[in-house]
Amino acid sequence: MNLLLRGGRVIDPAHELDAALDVRVDAGRVAEVGRGLAPGRGVREVDVRDKLVVPGLVDLHVHFREPGQEYKEDIATGSAAAAAGGFTTVCCMPNTVPPNDCRTVTDLIVRRSREVGLCRVRPVGAISVGLEGKALAEYGEMKEAGVVALSDDGRPVMNAGLMRRALEYARTFDLPVVQHAEDLALAEGGVMNEGEVATRLGLRGQPPQAESVMVARDLELCEWTGARYHVAHASTARTIELVRQARRRGLPVSCEVTPHHLHLTHDAVAGPPGYDTRAKVNPPLRAAADVEALREGLADGVIDCIATDHAPHSTVEKEVEFDHAAFGMIGLETALPLVLELVRARVIDLVRAVALLTSQPARVFRLDAGGAGSLAAGAPADLAVIDLDLAWTAEESGLRSRSRNTPFLGRALRGAALLTLLGGRVAFDRAGLVGEP
Ligand SMILES: [Zn+2]
Repeated sequence: MNLLLRGGRVIDPAHELDAALDVRVDAGRVAEVGRGLAPGRGVREVDVRDKLVVPGLVDLHVHFREPGQEYKEDIATGSAAAAAGGFTTVCCMPNTVPPNDCRTVTDLIVRRSREVGLCRVRPVGAISVGLEGKALAEYGEMKEAGVVALSDDGRPVMNAGLMRRALEYARTFDLPVVQHAEDLALAEGGVMNEGEVATRLGLRGQPPQAESVMVARDLELCEWTGARYHVAHASTARTIELVRQARRRGLPVSCEVTPHHLHLTHDAVAGPPGYDTRAKVNPPLRAAADVEALREGLADGVIDCIATDHAPHSTVEKEVEFDHAAFGMIGLETALPLVLELVRARVIDLVRAVALLTSQPARVFRLDAGGAGSLAAGAPADLAVIDLDLAWTAEESGLRSRSRNTPFLGRALRGAALLTLLGGRVAFDRAGLVGEP
């Protein structure tokens, strides 16, 4: 379908573009971005005045649970949730069953995501075989099959010697190493942030230092090996400070934060009635000072991107005692309005918000080479049309994800993707903007 999106506010941070323009999509690609474009024959014209047109959003951190735990999510439901959230590229973590630590599993994910065709699912391969932290996985064959980064996410690489070798080996394949930074000896099995709230609730806490100690160690290894190092879901003030210093020294380090760590504190764990297991995430929701530091890091540029850590779980894992509940919440369908909330609160401006969800994550994993995160002429037409003012409420029945585990259910939200195009094809159309061709 050839489309002409007429008169939207086009924000394309990769090209420093922010203006009322038309976007012409031809044969699945961005043909032209400009003023007063001619419609041409057989082109469907869509009026998007008063709407935002941006590159399809990019999420470096999701869990799609396929293979092995499809009752929580699979590549089809996860991709549908992504498209509904305005995302066109997501990177899926390797802690599936079996884990993505070899070509066979990578191949399966790549093939399934193409069959589904609603989102580009770019796999992250395991750092270690079986995510066990003992032997390095085979990075070369996984890269050939399509992995864009390496991580044992869900688990940290505790062994510094193994981490050193992982960084050296990853460097030869020019792959970033993504750390779930948690010193398990310091975390001591804590189920939430250590502090007054944990004490009041009588729950075991993990200190913020469990994260920053690991980041500090890794930055030493990053400097030593020269490999690209990415901190997943940074959650503490100290982590942001360490990354800021490392940046000044010129280290190839990057980091992401999640919408939930930017909006919620550990008080959310005490949500009525009793404990709210939907607020149980790892790293845990932190203190107000940490949230403030993350927001500052967003504004001053230390933080490269926003990633959801979309982690679906069924009621079997979540509607249990707090100590036994699984860590994680879903995030793909609420990320955009939560980021827009930061714009309205004047934490960041709209252009930076779009960059944090498009050009910047694409650059961190070098997905921009394939056109992700920008509206470059000739690139696949992956884009989102956004209504900044659409008021809505996340409700269980309205979610595309197979899981429902988010504390943002019932929250009044503003802003949503109206239309998501993947390679020029409609992946999501909230209100029939394009309609049937
Ligand atoms: Zn993690």
